[in-house]
Amino acid sequence: MMDNNFDVIIIGSGPGGYVCAIRSAQLGLKTACVESRKTLGGTCLNVGCIPSKSLLNLSKTYQKAQKEFNNLGIEVSNIKLNLSKMMSNKNKLVLDFTKGVEYLFKKNKITHLKGRGSIQSTNTVAVVDDSGKKSNYKAKNIVISTGSIPASLPGIKIDEKIVVSSTGALSFNQVPKELIIVGGGYIGLEMGSVWKRLGSRVTVVEFLDSITPEMDKDISTEFLKILKKQGINFKLDSKVTAVSVIKDQAVVDFTNHKSQKRERIQCDKVLIAVGRKPNINSDILKIGIKLDSKNRVQVNKKFETSIKNIYAIGDVIKGPMLAHKAEDEGIAVAEIIAGQAGHVNYDVIPAVVYTSPEVATVGKTEDQLKEENIKYKVGKFPFLANSRAKVNNDYEGFVKIIVDEKTDKVLGVHMIGSHVGEMIAEMALAMEFGASSEDIARTCHAHPTHTEAIKEAALAVDKRPIHF
Ligand code: FAD
Ligand code: NAD
Repeated sequence: MMDNNFDVIIIGSGPGGYVCAIRSAQLGLKTACVESRKTLGGTCLNVGCIPSKSLLNLSKTYQKAQKEFNNLGIEVSNIKLNLSKMMSNKNKLVLDFTKGVEYLFKKNKITHLKGRGSIQSTNTVAVVDDSGKKSNYKAKNIVISTGSIPASLPGIKIDEKIVVSSTGALSFNQVPKELIIVGGGYIGLEMGSVWKRLGSRVTVVEFLDSITPEMDKDISTEFLKILKKQGINFKLDSKVTAVSVIKDQAVVDFTNHKSQKRERIQCDKVLIAVGRKPNINSDILKIGIKLDSKNRVQVNKKFETSIKNIYAIGDVIKGPMLAHKAEDEGIAVAEIIAGQAGHVNYDVIPAVVYTSPEVATVGKTEDQLKEENIKYKVGKFPFLANSRAKVNNDYEGFVKIIVDEKTDKVLGVHMIGSHVGEMIAEMALAMEFGASSEDIARTCHAHPTHTEAIKEAALAVDKRPIHF
């Protein structure tokens, strides 16, 4: 018989929950993790980071074979898309990843409670399994890591067939001829890139005057220019007023709020990608856990909710909705529960958009620094002048480093270009160590690599780049 008493029960097995479970078990805590989905790993592994990056990789390979290989002296003919095979590849990867978490749970002796968890009291979690059977478990500590769900717009119903969220857009069984995407953020641009490469005509309708509006303006301007060149259509400053489904087609109405021009596009699929909202289960409200002004679980610096032994992490609390942020919070909470000093540095959380080229950023934007009245200097270096990027014929974009005018400390790094999603780790590490642009400029970078563009951007802060 299973002992129903635990040191910690975690509700939700996404990157926040499963990482918290592993760290808790490592620290000797008797740990259980409840998951209502059939497989472990949450949004990220099942319908988020992993399947989207798989399709980004596969669609990029297809596009290269179709458009670039012959020019490079690699003769290929009769390139054909087999979408169902591509989807099987993606599905197999997802299964491997979720099985990987199952293995890690077994290895760390974490109890996997299958079913829907709800907090009954400050120390009791009830789990209802697929057959409807309810079991109660006792826990000294409870961690809410129930993640987030797609947001929609008033009057628009996501049916996951014609009007879809990212989940539907990861599994189309045919390439849509005409795809309308509402929202020019992470999901809109990543999924838009996938389907554009596979042959869709893609139009992104964005409410604001730029895409990825929270990023540094230099980046969003360049990003828009590059994606337009790739053939994605953009309707900025535009508000969708209605989406109607007629048989197997949709009609999207939108109005440009600057010119007042109204437009209507008929399409096969509409992807609603206007953000995600915290997944708040009603049980937590019943026991008195407080939410903040944006309907997220309110937590203090130690991730404690308004009930002391109940913690919350990941997409369900404030901060960027990113897997690595959820993971780091999972580790911090496990350490706090075990009596250690868990901590997350929110000033240094990198973010990457996995389009082609990639966009990667960490730290403050110019606009944020202006708002905070902080005087800064900027160093910029284009990949056009980077030898590796030029050799690879892949030289769109630039590296931009922002430093404090007085101390030279790096405050923000914003990059667009190939491999920047990997390169951002160097900058995050530099910022964690409080590096200056001088430190980076004097660090020897291997030649020829894309990372030399970082060193050159650091040199450019004092107007002394070598190759530009
Ligand atoms: P989630 O991953 O959402 O997990 C929560 C889990 O809790 C779910 O499995 C849910 O079933 C379970 N649950 C909820 N309520 C209950 C309950 N009552 N009982 C039991 N279980 C419950 N982030 C990145 O950093 N990089 C990326 O490349 C990236 N790509 C993305 C692509 C897409 C298409 C999407 C949608 C998101 C992407 N994200 C990415 C965001 C990332 O997926 C989330 O930030 C991350 O998954 C949040 O982790 P979490 O643990 O807080 O919640
Ligand atoms: P997002 O916040 O990235 O982008 C939403 C976009 O929709 C914004 O540009 C916003 O201005 C726009 N918008 C909002 N309301 C609108 C309206 N009424 N009409 C038109 N446009 C509107 O959200 P998302 O793309 O849905 O992704 C959700 C979250 O998932 C992201 O914020 C991110 O945290 C996470 N994610 C991360 C990655 C990654 O790390 N590579 C990839 C996918 C998703």
